[in-house]
Amino acid sequence: MKKWKCTVCGYIHEGEEAPEKCPLCGAAREKFVEIREKDDSVAPTSTKEEQPRENEVSKMTQLVLENFLHPISVHSPNGIIPMVVLLLVPAVLFSADSFATAAYYSLLFVLLAMPPVMITGYITWRSKYKGTKTALFTMKIAAACVASATLLVLVVWKTVQPDVLTASAGRWPFFLLSLLLLASVGIAGHLGGKLVFSNTK
Ligand SMILES: [Zn+2]
Repeated sequence: MKKWKCTVCGYIHEGEEAPEKCPLCGAAREKFVEIREKDDSVAPTSTKEEQPRENEVSKMTQLVLENFLHPISVHSPNGIIPMVVLLLVPAVLFSADSFATAAYYSLLFVLLAMPPVMITGYITWRSKYKGTKTALFTMKIAAACVASATLLVLVVWKTVQPDVLTASAGRWPFFLLSLLLLASVGIAGHLGGKLVFSNTK
């Protein structure tokens, strides 16, 4: 049985032919290269083109990829945002000011943590995944942009109108936006997990 590797995401396919489309990242058949059984390395036909590009990889890119800076930086938003939503429940239902304040500072912290997430994500996509525009990456990038925009709106809103959560009709739209934020980081995180953990074969 032949083995084929997706050069975009690293997915391994076993069969006489490469699949028409990568089931993981959606890359076309041309992106697959055959893996030789003995040394498990990629057949020489495809690597020629990629070789010079890989030599150009900058120190910054190397630093990001080798130290897994994107998955690491992504844990601040992914860990804190669910907590923000939980804090907003008593804030919105019972006008609990201290919960509203805690949610606000958590959102502010996540906003500050966002630039490294976006930059390392972009670098990882450009280099490791060669900037491929399959459905998975388009969706992941869109989700990350929605998350950043929502986050910015929430922080600016509460800064401009400090009592939005406790003494205004804006509390429900604010809460709904926080759910949108949670959903978008959830989607971006889920797709990232799919990329990282599904090709361990
Ligand atoms: Zn793939």
